[in-house]
Amino acid sequence: MLKTHSCGELRKDHIGQEVTLAGWVHRRRDHGGLVFIDLRNKEGIVQVVFNPETSPVAHEIADGFRNEYVIQVTGDVSRRPPGTENPKLPTGEIEIVAKEAEILNTAKTPPFYINEDVDVEDNIRLKYRYLYLRRERLKNNLLLRHKVIKFIRNFLDSKGFVEIETPILIKSTPEGARDYLVPSRIHPGKFYALPQSPQQLKQLLMVAGFEKYYQIARCFRDEDLRADRQPEFTQLDLEMSFVDEEDILNLLEELFTSLVETVTPEKRVLKPFPRLSYIETMERYGTDKPDIRFGLEIKDISSIMTNSDFAVFRTTLQEGGKIKGICVPACASYPRHQLEELTQLAKSFGAKGLVAMPVATEVSNPGQATIDKTKTVVAKYLTAAEVQGIVTKFEAKPDDLLLIVADQPKIVNKVLDELRREMGKHLNLVDPNLLAFVFIVDYPLLEWNKELGHWGPMHHPFTAPREEDIPLLDAAPEKVRARHYDIVCNGCELSSGSIRVHNRELQEKIFHLLGYNKREIEERFGHLLDAFEYGVPPHGGIAPGMDRLVMLLAGEDSIREVIAFPKNQSATDLMVNAPSSVSKEQLDELYLQLKPELES
Ligand code: ASP
Repeated sequence: MLKTHSCGELRKDHIGQEVTLAGWVHRRRDHGGLVFIDLRNKEGIVQVVFNPETSPVAHEIADGFRNEYVIQVTGDVSRRPPGTENPKLPTGEIEIVAKEAEILNTAKTPPFYINEDVDVEDNIRLKYRYLYLRRERLKNNLLLRHKVIKFIRNFLDSKGFVEIETPILIKSTPEGARDYLVPSRIHPGKFYALPQSPQQLKQLLMVAGFEKYYQIARCFRDEDLRADRQPEFTQLDLEMSFVDEEDILNLLEELFTSLVETVTPEKRVLKPFPRLSYIETMERYGTDKPDIRFGLEIKDISSIMTNSDFAVFRTTLQEGGKIKGICVPACASYPRHQLEELTQLAKSFGAKGLVAMPVATEVSNPGQATIDKTKTVVAKYLTAAEVQGIVTKFEAKPDDLLLIVADQPKIVNKVLDELRREMGKHLNLVDPNLLAFVFIVDYPLLEWNKELGHWGPMHHPFTAPREEDIPLLDAAPEKVRARHYDIVCNGCELSSGSIRVHNRELQEKIFHLLGYNKREIEERFGHLLDAFEYGVPPHGGIAPGMDRLVMLLAGEDSIREVIAFPKNQSATDLMVNAPSSVSKEQLDELYLQLKPELES
């Protein structure tokens, strides 16, 4: 090794020892003859001093050091002079008094600061990802990711799980996204699909008798990207035989609780994990990915407004819409421009408008809040009974602000979910150190796909219906409940999972309901249906997203901050410049031809 110790590991106990260190120049200061270097490697930073009097040669070499040079230094570990200790650094009580030094490699001036966490333009930090990863925060995120995965492996091993790899060159498995395709050279005109998930393979491993499988699995989905999406991402894919819903949920609860307690003990977990039905979460939060760290729950005032004089409310209800809102504490005095901003936010998510009803600050009748009619545009349409009904429904207090949306249920839910999140953030109601995991259960099995004119799966086609609802598959598919569960944390969906169909007849019936014809079923899922004839254990599983989990544990807002080499919003890797063109010879080998307008 070119070094005897790591920069970050040196402490008081090492005083008097001669050490050789190697790393990057994090910072360089010249103090009237003495040169100070903060030397950095993966484990941390240590201060090195070069004295022109005691070590003139080393000092002269240090004079040439610049930030990000790679250097090697030999020197003695010494106590820092009193008053110069740095309590912020774990090595802050000591410094290395250099005797020898060597430049192992020079560096150009980096395109952004490595030693300060100041913002860097997206394109630049992705292009120079290897430099961005030198930053403390990013480095720590990747180290955290390593610890999380290591913990999960040990935990699952202790529970009897077997880690098994499944192929990347495989066949399409529907998870609701477009496939990435890979052309076959050996079979002209044929394509592999990259797995959207190892779903069918893990089910086949259950048929094979492994009983408890897991994999830190890479999945590929060609869909539009958002802050928490990447074209390729990592799941903790797991599957178990002879289980029901409770077994999977209890396993996850134990896994995540012990993971947080061990790996990020500074975070708190809400225990036990609450379970909400799909219907309840939609009613209370307008979404099945609720952030339950704060209140501001949605209330439905439709029944109070059925005979409203306000035409918008009345017609919305007549057209099957809903009137719902949230009560924001102590915000009645919001000025007009702030209300206007909230209205614009509501409109950007599809609302036609937003009705603000400030609750009066002064209460004439103690214990009885009322709407401030002077500040409520629709006040003249509200009867005393309606005002009373609204205030009671929201349990509003003087000085609160009611934000009401009237529209079709989907829009009302969407808009209030967004407003609720926004106000939660704005009012600092969100505890950043709390991890509020929640299980969502009792999903419907199917949802009507208007564009395609047939049923689509709420989760995926392999999800089992509730036993007692199977007869409804013919008569009332919309009423069939699924054995499907989701796990959500702090408003972010970590995973869906389910108990699976394990019977050929039922699986075929569901494929038919989902619009697949006989030929498609045979072509796409024949292997699974065949397997279902050879003794299949009842089984189920789930696949929490690792990128999102580490993002939450690291307190980051985007999964890109916890992935070593992510792609940008248009699925491009700016560092290596992928995707890129390939040669005509490569295309010929694959029997592929570009459309003329794409040929350069
Ligand atoms: N394959 C599913 C997904 O990727 C997870 C599961 O059902 O286990 O969402």
